[in-house]
Amino acid sequence: MARFSPAQEFQSALSPIQLLPFRFERTAVGRYLVSNIVGEFVSLSGEEFGRLVQLQLAPGDELYDKAYASHLITRAGQTAQLQLLAMRLRSRMAFLREPSALHLFVVTLRCEHSCPYCQVSRQSSDRSRFDMSEEIAQRALALVLQSPAPLIKIEFQGGEPLLNFPLIAKIVEAANIEGPRAGKELQFVIASNLALLNDDILAFCKANSILLSTSLDGPADLHNKNRPRPGGNSYELAVKGIKRAQDVLGKDRVGALMTTTERSLGRAEEIIDEYLTLGLGGIFLRPLSPYGFAVKSKQLQKYDANEWLDFYRRGLRYILDLNRSGTPFVEFYTALVLARMLTDRPTGYVDLRSPAGIGLGALVYNYDGRVFASDEGRMLAEMGDDTFVLGNVADATYRSLVTSDKLIELVGASLSQCAPECHGCVYESCCGADPVYHHATQHDAVGIKPLSGFCARQKGVMETVIDLLHSSPEDAVILRRWGVA
Ligand code: SF4
Ligand code: SF4
Repeated sequence: MARFSPAQEFQSALSPIQLLPFRFERTAVGRYLVSNIVGEFVSLSGEEFGRLVQLQLAPGDELYDKAYASHLITRAGQTAQLQLLAMRLRSRMAFLREPSALHLFVVTLRCEHSCPYCQVSRQSSDRSRFDMSEEIAQRALALVLQSPAPLIKIEFQGGEPLLNFPLIAKIVEAANIEGPRAGKELQFVIASNLALLNDDILAFCKANSILLSTSLDGPADLHNKNRPRPGGNSYELAVKGIKRAQDVLGKDRVGALMTTTERSLGRAEEIIDEYLTLGLGGIFLRPLSPYGFAVKSKQLQKYDANEWLDFYRRGLRYILDLNRSGTPFVEFYTALVLARMLTDRPTGYVDLRSPAGIGLGALVYNYDGRVFASDEGRMLAEMGDDTFVLGNVADATYRSLVTSDKLIELVGASLSQCAPECHGCVYESCCGADPVYHHATQHDAVGIKPLSGFCARQKGVMETVIDLLHSSPEDAVILRRWGVA
């Protein structure tokens, strides 16, 4: 007589398998890319995908383990899996708990450059009309300190903000007194072409831990054609400024951004080399945006999303090869996308957020006192479109700005989680909503995604990144390092 009951009598009855929410897309090579709601991607063969959707899987087989680990399936009545997903989603969207951490002061719209792609529609004269006054700055600072975020970044923009440096100094000094009283930790950034940088400004930046962010489009001939100024020496001044800032403030206290023009397209490697030579740790291969003179001068029409993607892929390939040969260097946008894919950290980058980052991610205080939901929103206003004006420093409170009907409607209408096309897109969990771009290009904050340059670029970048992660182990090691850094 057996002393023990059969093994199956000790097994708990398994409840039926159920699918969890996921999105999928058939790839060019006949496989299926499947993503869960927290940004994990798995590649399945057609046969595996068929078995997954028909629930023809069982514990012990490879597909079951893969689907379970990727939160694509659960067991009826099992709550742990759902709780885990909910916790991860909450963490990914934690940016909503600390809204409006970024505040941009447009201290002047004047600029001594005349870049044909200038997206802010700079002005060349009339200090009284295009410079922010001290009174407007004070009122704007009071609004900044009402926002709930404990860590606040104040960025000075233009035009060329150094043309109104005395006002920057006053704002920083006032913020350093009033910020701690309001329980805020403050960071400061000046976004400048650096042509007007001098020792006094650098000393002030050092004393107040101010970061500098500048523009560098590539080698001298390319940069100077893109960024004309009297004397034709924008490149020389930018490079000199970067070096001086690195010496005085530290290598990591100055960053540069490039803008892709038609002239840049065949020169990805040279542009990247320029950044390497200057000891910059990475580059953001940034496309033109549809605002200001970039539209008026038809710069925007000179290349399309596919041509930019070719440029991006060529640049990324070059950067990955540099890393393989021992030179660490990062493509920053790729790193941001990877962080969405490989971690549950809330993103600070407003273009990769849904709900959109307008207002909730950043507020912009214009030189004339108007408050905008985003930097691009104020660029549109210079083109005569006031859609993204939320109020005026004269009478606004932080609460009146972020709870305005206008902002709520724009943010609510553009959620990628439920927007047409996006809600079923395999990349949704790592993408974002950009209502300003879509309003500017399609006169509709939601946008018709199959016709959207934003969507084409987002898809192209994410497809490229996932392809490299899945097909190239050496590149995957480098990319994973960028994503979790
Ligand atoms: S892009 Fe910048 S540097 Fe060039 S004109 Fe516009 S504000 Fe000035
Ligand atoms: S914008 Fe395009 S890539 Fe992004 S979620 Fe929507 S459809 Fe997908």
